[in-house]
Amino acid sequence: MKNKTDIKSLNLCELEAAFTQMALPRFRASQVYRWLQVQGVTYFDEMTNVSLQLREQLAAAYFIPSAQIERKLVSQIDGTVKYLFSLYDGQTVESVVMQYKYGYTICVSTQVGCRMGCRFCASTLNGCIRNLAASEILSQIHAAQRDLSIRISHVVLMGMGEPLDNFENVLRFLELVSDENGLNISARSISLSTCGIVPKIKELTKRKLQITLSVSLHAPNDAIRSTIMPVNRKWGVDTLLAACREYASVTGRRISFEYTMIDGVNDSDACARELGKKLRGMLAHVNLIPVNLVKENTFHKSDKVHIERFIEVLKEYGVTATVRRTLGADINASCGQLRQSAKQAEQKEVSN
Ligand code: SAH
Repeated sequence: MKNKTDIKSLNLCELEAAFTQMALPRFRASQVYRWLQVQGVTYFDEMTNVSLQLREQLAAAYFIPSAQIERKLVSQIDGTVKYLFSLYDGQTVESVVMQYKYGYTICVSTQVGCRMGCRFCASTLNGCIRNLAASEILSQIHAAQRDLSIRISHVVLMGMGEPLDNFENVLRFLELVSDENGLNISARSISLSTCGIVPKIKELTKRKLQITLSVSLHAPNDAIRSTIMPVNRKWGVDTLLAACREYASVTGRRISFEYTMIDGVNDSDACARELGKKLRGMLAHVNLIPVNLVKENTFHKSDKVHIERFIEVLKEYGVTATVRRTLGADINASCGQLRQSAKQAEQKEVSN
């Protein structure tokens, strides 16, 4: 792949320009684009209405990044499917497909690993190995659609990695996935989750996309947030919330705040009051997520009583909150855990 160009990360204009340079007719570019973006083919030979000569010409200059199913777990409880995909260089990432009343949602990864260092998160345990190309984010959707024979209607960028730490590729992914000549998943059906890289939130605001911005807040103040999320030492809670307010007012889109409930860390009445005061009047919703146990850390879930109290207190400030439905509880569906356990199994095999 070294000397070849990733053909699936090109938009239609770029592909047409490349075809013009190769003295090929433009309509051929849109045929190839559809194979790549709609069908999600992984080999040029799958493009059956493209001549053998052109397929060979393309294969000499380009490669098609794909996501190969390495492992697949299906929840016996709710049918949630979790994939471990391997990429062209052998690196692995996770995706999860969930079924809701309104259709299928996929949670995709944007990086191999993550360098943000959140203390409760399994994805960041070994740092960030590399960014995913736009094509590799798309390939997770294509591979799942093909494997399950379904059409995915919603995408959340909430898997491994920090999307705003891979800004250009993620923007390109958003352009391609919402293209009407491609998967045609509209921006309004896409959520991007960030731990709070403020300058990138501001850049995103300028683009005025209609995607939902999810912000992993997890604490109402710097004292708590900085101990569980290192990113907060750079951009504190007030700076982050100011950027969120601006995003909401420029785009008219409600911000979704993720708040992981960790027993004894961020789940007190005082935390709820502080959060209520800070979010009061904002176009926002709070998603409470009982923290998932990660073997490598010592955090525990808050109990039901604390979670219910938290919701009640927020309500007093006019802030709506709901508890995130847990899907795939029996398959370690939260991010980073499958890759981590596959890695440990590999290491065991090596050391045995
Ligand atoms: N880097 C992005 C997106 C990936 S993480 C972000 O930080 O938002 C997706 C969500 O899962 C984030 O809200 C993250 O804080 C949360 N998360 C990570 N580990 C978790 C765990 N062990 N239990 C519950 N939520 C977790």
